[in-house]
Amino acid sequence: MSKKYLMTPGPTPVPEDIRLEMAKPIIHHRTKEYQAIFKEATEGLKKIFKTSNNVYTFTSSGTGAMEASIVNVLSPGDKIIVVRGGKFGERFADLAQAYGIEVIPIDVEWGTAPEPEIIKAALKKNPSVKGVYTTLCETSTATVFDIKAIGEIVKGTGALFVVDAISGLGADDFENDKWGVDIAVCGSQKGLMIPPGLAFCSVSEKAWKYAETSKLPKFYFNFKKYKKAWLDTDTPFTSAITLVIGLKKAVEKINKQGIDNVIAEHNAQARAFRAACNAIGLKIFSKSPSSAVTGVNTPARINADDLVKLLKTEFNVTFAGGQEHLKGKIFRCAHMGGIDREHTIESIRALGQALTKLGYEFKAGAGVAAAEDILH
Ligand SMILES: *Cc1c(COP(=O)(O)O)cnc(C)c1O
Repeated sequence: MSKKYLMTPGPTPVPEDIRLEMAKPIIHHRTKEYQAIFKEATEGLKKIFKTSNNVYTFTSSGTGAMEASIVNVLSPGDKIIVVRGGKFGERFADLAQAYGIEVIPIDVEWGTAPEPEIIKAALKKNPSVKGVYTTLCETSTATVFDIKAIGEIVKGTGALFVVDAISGLGADDFENDKWGVDIAVCGSQKGLMIPPGLAFCSVSEKAWKYAETSKLPKFYFNFKKYKKAWLDTDTPFTSAITLVIGLKKAVEKINKQGIDNVIAEHNAQARAFRAACNAIGLKIFSKSPSSAVTGVNTPARINADDLVKLLKTEFNVTFAGGQEHLKGKIFRCAHMGGIDREHTIESIRALGQALTKLGYEFKAGAGVAAAEDILH
């Protein structure tokens, strides 16, 4: 197998037509030509977020937008609730603490989604909290959270509802406005199928009210600068022009297919992958599996990192390993963005061959057959 299959939960493969678009000669960003591209990319993004709020574009990896969602709306002395169910929930808490914000953590077992009732109780106990920060897909555990249910709870309170949708957007269901999300955070290298380097925030009216009085220090990620520049279809600092050109093409592709169809397709691939794993005797790690990425427990005597290494070196398939205490115990395979059915089937085939090589026994061909049954 000479073709390479990048199955990591970011970066994801960039389709050829998007790569070719980005290979064109660079243009200047303070021009009508670029403004038209930037406008189209942003309007297209709003459809993917399902929002009528503006979506602001930053030049940074996704974490920059996470930071923006904190520094723009909070002030020294503020308290927030943060759901910590994996690496990325922990990152939100660490980020807030770096700015001196008091974090009320809701710790959930890795691989499970938080019970919305626990958030309700925490809000009741701490009525002065300024925000509830959580994650759509907790990529480290391949777990999707019930953002809709949490949104119902936060809606009637004074707290902002902030969601890290970096890996979930475009793969798991997400309704920014209907679910009452005040700030949704996204990045370019996951479901949006362009290279790393852009980050996004949707910002609601309620979030703008907080932004008016926010006193945390900020400069590069200051929402107000982006809002002002947006009036001229511009960014306050040099745009990552090439990536925005790629973004325009990517959102055009997604919206042409329809975001709901795109999500359904990734969901089908995720279900097929899980069925394949089950068919060869492997257990899915998460109790609330995401359509963006699947985490799988390796059989007892097989170290997940050995499996990931073998798949990469001998089969040209790149999975991700587990993080923190899951290192060596799980591997992760993404389904988002430019990952298509061929990627999914070929990586299942390679997974079977690699497991055989590592001495694991199962019914040959059962994985691919189970996946094809779903994808037919
Ligand atoms: C990838 C990811 C991030 C971090 O993004 P960077 O681009 O590495 O800064 C944050 N949250 C989630 C849920 C992610 O999947």
